[in-house]
Amino acid sequence: MAERMLQFVRLSQQTPDKRDAAVRREDFGEIYQRFTAERASAQASRCSQCGVPFCSVHCPLNQNIPDWLKLTAEGRLEEAYEVSSATNTFPEICGRVCPQDRLCEGNCVIEKGFESVTIGAVERYITDTAWEKGWVKPPTPSREVAHSVAIIGAGPAGLAAAERLRKRGWQVTVYDRYDRVGGLMIYGIPNFKLEKDVVIRRAEQFAAGGIQFVLNCRVGEDVTLDELRAKHDAVLIATGVYKARDIGGAGAELNGIVPALDYLTASNREGLGDAVPEFENGALNAAGKTVVVIGGGDTAMDCVRTAIRQGAKAVTCLYRRDKANMPGSLREVKNAEEEGVRFAWLCAPEGFVGEGAVTGVQAVKMHLGLPDATGRQQVEPIAGSAFVEPADLVIKALGFDPEDLPAMFSEPALSVSRWGTVKVDRRNMMTDLPGVFAAGDIVRGASLVVWGIRDGRDAADQIEKYVTAKAAPAMAAE
Ligand code: FAD
Ligand code: SF4
Ligand code: SF4
Repeated sequence: MAERMLQFVRLSQQTPDKRDAAVRREDFGEIYQRFTAERASAQASRCSQCGVPFCSVHCPLNQNIPDWLKLTAEGRLEEAYEVSSATNTFPEICGRVCPQDRLCEGNCVIEKGFESVTIGAVERYITDTAWEKGWVKPPTPSREVAHSVAIIGAGPAGLAAAERLRKRGWQVTVYDRYDRVGGLMIYGIPNFKLEKDVVIRRAEQFAAGGIQFVLNCRVGEDVTLDELRAKHDAVLIATGVYKARDIGGAGAELNGIVPALDYLTASNREGLGDAVPEFENGALNAAGKTVVVIGGGDTAMDCVRTAIRQGAKAVTCLYRRDKANMPGSLREVKNAEEEGVRFAWLCAPEGFVGEGAVTGVQAVKMHLGLPDATGRQQVEPIAGSAFVEPADLVIKALGFDPEDLPAMFSEPALSVSRWGTVKVDRRNMMTDLPGVFAAGDIVRGASLVVWGIRDGRDAADQIEKYVTAKAAPAMAAE
């Protein structure tokens, strides 16, 4: 092993510099700076090159992390890029948005008492450098093949499948109801976590490599699933989950109570330069308002931090459990606290007050009770603790469920689980409809970009296997 490695005993962990909270709350730029070449190399050299790398085991893409860390430590960046891009369609995006503390870095085993290797920041550094140096190429195949696939959904799952099949010469058409490519990477995740140029340059590369995009096309309305099945050898459904979980109660119909994704999409569109009437007329704009965000997940964190940047008067996150029991990443909570968000832990909404427009959230204080069968502590209201949290904009961030796809696609034979996710045969990712596959959030439920990539890549392999096997007897008979 190169002497250069195993430096964790000598070098402490250094994460990328974070912009000061007072500065970063004034704009939507990414908050983490990029590593310098020296720091990337030094931090990569902390890896102890484990024989059984638990970082890789816990990366959904099972990437060869020790290999690209070693190459980075040795300054062999182009090779590091080759290795990392062989297993990841969007390494620079995962380096930015993966919850590394729960995945690769959270399972890095360098000796107890030392902090993990900063894997995500190095991964981002490698591919950002590759873009600058021109090493990232369009997925142009060396030879064309006649097989064609329709991919419904231009999010990470659909795009990962598209790139993989196109590289192998397939004729790939991606249909999306949105006007831009990227799914939630464009219209969900805010700029301060993932600047949009990073997604747009990928989309441009894919188009340059021959992937066809049919945008503003809602499958089920503008074209039917049957038509796509007739036109292509296979179809991949990668439509994500978009039905917002709602909260009822008195006053739920008041103006000024909005779903999280409407709010974030308006903000992202505005940042992209689109005319957004709901932003301009204030309906989806927190400027000057007292904002309450209901929920404790990562979407709620994105909303509170967006509201701060839009110039809200005050921003409170209302969550019915405590900090230790919230589903969102603690790193994001810390970022939000630094930026001036107030957290009202153990507070549950019961309704809304106001006349015409909301003026407050009717809430009650909670305490943690006994664990249920899953081991999670239950929450119970504290008698006589009702209060009103003032608000003139309430954002509901309670999670997402799948839309009714069999109805949307007029295809009753498309089986779904009791959660509404599309059912696939786990062995080959095919739905009950022959030649129709599914991947990403629409199969897993709301998940992560990196799992979308994994599913998309796996689905591409299964689609190729299915179509080539089907074509083989016909070719043999010719
Ligand atoms: P999507 O990205 O949702 O893409 C689905 C695409 O299908 C969309 O473009 C949609 O327009 C299209 N579509 C849907 N129906 C149709 C139709 N009928 N016809 C045509 N097109 C259709 N994950 C992380 O790893 N890190 C994060 O920091 C993170 N932050 C998030 C923040 C927010 C606010 C949200 C909502 C999610 C976040 N996620 C994050 C989760 C992550 O974005 C998703 O898990 C991931 O994008 C799922 O990929 P997908 O390809 O399955 O679906
Ligand atoms: Fe870690 Fe995500 Fe990269 Fe895997 S893809 S190594 S989990 S940052
Ligand atoms: Fe290196 Fe940590 Fe992975 Fe071991 S677990 S190979 S030390 S990054």
